[in-house]
Amino acid sequence: MMSEGLVTVSYIVATILFILSLGGLSNPETARRGNSFGISGMAIAIIATILGPKVTSLTPIIVAMVVGGGVGLYAAYKVQMTEMPELVALMHSLVGLAAVLIGYATFRDSEVQFQGVEQTIHSIEIYLGILIGAVTFSGSVIAFCKLSGRIGGKPLLLPGRHFWNLAALLAVLFVGSMFINTESGVGGMFLLFIMTGIALAFGIHMVMAIGGADMPVVVSMLNSYSGWAASATGFMLGNDLLIVIGALVGSSGAILSYIMCRAMNRNFISVIAGGFGTAGGTVVSGGAAPQGETQSISAEETAEILRNAAKVILVPGYGMAVAQAQHTVFEITKLLRERGVDVHFAIHPVAGRMPGHMNVLLAEAKVPYDIVAEMDEINHEFPATDVAMVIGANDIVNPAAQEDPNSPIAGMPVLEVWKANTSIVMKRSMASGYAGVDNPLFYKENNRMLFGDAKKMLDEVLVFLRKSA
Ligand code: NDP
Repeated sequence: MMSEGLVTVSYIVATILFILSLGGLSNPETARRGNSFGISGMAIAIIATILGPKVTSLTPIIVAMVVGGGVGLYAAYKVQMTEMPELVALMHSLVGLAAVLIGYATFRDSEVQFQGVEQTIHSIEIYLGILIGAVTFSGSVIAFCKLSGRIGGKPLLLPGRHFWNLAALLAVLFVGSMFINTESGVGGMFLLFIMTGIALAFGIHMVMAIGGADMPVVVSMLNSYSGWAASATGFMLGNDLLIVIGALVGSSGAILSYIMCRAMNRNFISVIAGGFGTAGGTVVSGGAAPQGETQSISAEETAEILRNAAKVILVPGYGMAVAQAQHTVFEITKLLRERGVDVHFAIHPVAGRMPGHMNVLLAEAKVPYDIVAEMDEINHEFPATDVAMVIGANDIVNPAAQEDPNSPIAGMPVLEVWKANTSIVMKRSMASGYAGVDNPLFYKENNRMLFGDAKKMLDEVLVFLRKSA
């Protein structure tokens, strides 16, 4: 067993490791080290907590850890790279659920007796903990369903939705004021049930109302909420480490939401108010339908164009993750670079289905970081580029964002691949991307469509490139 003092020292060490972890994760080159810091910090935090003086019986904790750890290990081994965003959403929901359950347990805990102001503060902690936890839980479950395609991406717009949100907020405040003035017992429990019901409904409504391309903001926002839920849990349990770590996750998630909003040129409040691609509460069509013919290209012709290029920019998107084409992409990159072609990757901040999705895949394939550029760094280079090759991306290269003021994604910054001498789009069909918007890029005169699974087509391109060595 550890003394209170040793637990505090361990918590401080864990906090420092978590801060170093966040610092490391902000850059792909140091991300691996950041992960190691995080793992060490969490190990110290868990050991110090279960060996600390507050734990009276180890048996239930060990049973819970074996069951929970087993499920976690199984999920981590089983999950496909493309399912990571859903897994993250599910994990956020568990943090929310934990906050709700701990809130109810703390309320029922008759051993904790407070008086006067302390009692009021304790009641507020419980109320806020359950409130934030319930919104995080139901919102994350809906986000999981949307990301995994179980629920469509279209925003659900109830008539008078802003009124319902305002009514929910007022009801939560009203029930909260009653709860704080109620003695613990059946009355208080009933009020908590009412608030939990409202919070769950609010979480569902909030995420259902957010459509298509605004989902990146939702994912990072729920990440932030899960941090605040953990922090609230820390207050309820009187655990300083949880409070600090929750606040770290909450604020870094909030910064990420801001970055995502800026990347999409969206205002945070309008994202939360929901209804992407709508005007006056009704869904508008996806702007003007693109006109003209598309021009297909074969893998052999693609190899020929690449061979003759001096400068190539590769633009990966969600389809590269689906096809698991990153390793072949890197093989092609190496071959072209050996032959003196200048090859770079252009990464849009919302490419794929989670923040940093493309960076993770490229790092997995061991693509050197110095040839991977963010949108802002590379967008001006397309006019001087011979070939822009779009690998399973769609929304992030849609010129309608700039050219069609009626497009639902009007104003969103995109990678300007059509300014290259030739753009080649690799995808399986003419289907739209996650935002459900038509893409006029496909019909541009200097664009070619390489139809097929990205991995299969790139394998063919690689064979033709090697043949021509
Ligand atoms: P998109 O969803 O816009 O487009 C992906 C394209 O990949 C599809 O049009 C699809 O076309 C193609 N594709 C799918 N599978 C394959 C395959 N096996 N081989 C080749 N092509 C394939 O992805 P983007 O990356 O361009 O944009 C991301 C979108 O996701 C944005 O709308 C963003 O807002 C949203 N989003 C992003 C999140 C994030 O955090 N990054 C989170 C949630 C949503 P086809 O079916 O014809 O092959």
